[in-house]
Amino acid sequence: MKKEEGYPSTMEKYKATLKENEIRCTHQRMEVLRYLDENRTHPTVAQIHSGLKGENPSLSKATVYNALQEFEEHGIVKSITQPDSKVRYDYDTSMHFHFICDNCGKIIDFSMDYPDLEQVKNRGHRVDKVQGYIRGVCKECLEEAGKSEEG
Ligand code: ZN
Ligand code: MN
Repeated sequence: MKKEEGYPSTMEKYKATLKENEIRCTHQRMEVLRYLDENRTHPTVAQIHSGLKGENPSLSKATVYNALQEFEEHGIVKSITQPDSKVRYDYDTSMHFHFICDNCGKIIDFSMDYPDLEQVKNRGHRVDKVQGYIRGVCKECLEEAGKSEEG
């Protein structure tokens, strides 16, 4: 199947998502959603903006940011915050953990057993968000470092 044939039906998917959440459906909002769906690299606002502005010259960074804020409020996307880093966005809102490479900044998804939230709630706390990450150096970076050591 040619790419163009799949395109409208894909956009229908995003349109439906926005509609379900009673978010006004604009081309730019759908584009932001599509970008996140197609780029599961946990991009920043700036990365999403630069990825889309070629085909959407009137798209501003503020529009991307506002769209993401709105999507997150409706649980359509998830933001990932970590110390010393810009906020990144994830199309996958299911519960999962992230492995973050401290060398290249890559974020890789991992599924893992989740902490027992009942325990937290039973002590009277309110849980709004669960974030888990593991930091280290990714396989690719380790291989690169190995190569340069070998000379
Ligand atoms: Zn890396
Ligand atoms: Mn993720």
